[in-house]
Amino acid sequence: MSYSYEAPVSQALFDRASVVTPGGVNSPVRAFRAVGGTPRFMVSGDGPYLTDADGREYVDLVCSWGPMILGHSRPEVIEAVQAAVARGTSFGTPGEGEVALAEEIVGRVAPVEQVRLVSSGTEATMSAIRLARGFTGRAKIVKFAGCYHGHVDALLAAAGSGVATFGLPDTPGVTGAQAGDTVVLPYNDLQAVQDAFAAHPGEIACVITEASPGNMGVVPPREGFNAGLKELCAANGALYISDEVMTGFRTSKAGWYGIDGVAPDLMTFGKVMGGGFPAAAFGGRADVMAHLAPAGPVYQAGTLSGNPVATAAGLAQLRLLDDAAYAKVDAVSAEIRGLVSDALGKEGVAHRLQTAGNMFSVFFTSDEVRDYEDAKRQEAFRFTGFFHSMLADGVYLPPSAFESWFVSTAHDDRAIERVAAALPAAARAAAEATGEGVRA
Ligand code: PLP
Repeated sequence: MSYSYEAPVSQALFDRASVVTPGGVNSPVRAFRAVGGTPRFMVSGDGPYLTDADGREYVDLVCSWGPMILGHSRPEVIEAVQAAVARGTSFGTPGEGEVALAEEIVGRVAPVEQVRLVSSGTEATMSAIRLARGFTGRAKIVKFAGCYHGHVDALLAAAGSGVATFGLPDTPGVTGAQAGDTVVLPYNDLQAVQDAFAAHPGEIACVITEASPGNMGVVPPREGFNAGLKELCAANGALYISDEVMTGFRTSKAGWYGIDGVAPDLMTFGKVMGGGFPAAAFGGRADVMAHLAPAGPVYQAGTLSGNPVATAAGLAQLRLLDDAAYAKVDAVSAEIRGLVSDALGKEGVAHRLQTAGNMFSVFFTSDEVRDYEDAKRQEAFRFTGFFHSMLADGVYLPPSAFESWFVSTAHDDRAIERVAAALPAAARAAAEATGEGVRA
């Protein structure tokens, strides 16, 4: 099946991009390699819709991989950005916007007593790990297979997201020394964590986990898993780091912490808190954060950290995210999940919708998915036809079977009806898929 000619302007842009940019994209999953065809170059977004360079409109179920929880071009956010831009775009000095955004985060998420702003989720997790190592004086870190924490060298071992999509066990360019202190364990397996602490007494600085993983598809923690991690860390003198880059301020006012109430030592944030701009953060216990420069010896810095335009966007977005907004996003998510399940069920396609708050993903298997090995056992080849049928009918899904879908407050009845209308054909395509000719 060829999808290359459906979007001539996007194809022409992709051809141009491929000359000057590796693979034609600035972040791998955007290249559509897992599903084939022409990546759509988007030119504008409005509410729940994206418009591509060929002038086609799509219902957006990616929402920029999470940040656009109010939909695109929400007027209050745009106005805040315009006002900030008019005052200047970067000063390299402290500014009030950073203080206000930090106060908003500290006010929402009780375990965060102090917070440091950075520009990407990758920087947040990288810095949190450095801080944990500096604080504990230990080298080893524990992460879980299928959890993605950005492209931090030490964390690119058995990561999810684009790495899961490409099936890379690891990546060239990360040396044995960089990954050698990383212990990778199966997700949702507390015994494995206990065994790791027993095998490396006094050596583990921290356990980092996605608060509720969304980068191997959505695989929520089993009841008691996060609480167990916290207990094991405390008992062994290690820090418990909850990566809420994806779940933070999305799954509730206080992110996943607002759902499970397990207080981490450190947390990382990104996506929603930037309102569509590069803003991220890490924070937590004040006694741990006190080790960060200039208060303490652990170095960390950034030219554009706390950028005034990004902080204005993030603050405007967070201030609009009240209980009613989360109730709306949860309701949209539930409605779309129901529609997807009905459509696949009617075609007899084995599937499982897994959810974490309003995040969800579809696994093409009837078995529960508890870890990365389970996730990889799904019939991912069914996703290709499903994805392209939805795309052809004007619904933009994540171009991989191993990603969360994201919705927003802007997904109204009209947008949901368009999703409903596209689903029967996509479910048929999933049912008819044989897996032959699918790239590995
Ligand atoms: N942590 C998690 C849980 C993520 O989902 C991501 C990105 O998807 C990151 C960290 C990295 O964030 P960024 O892409 O902003 O570097």
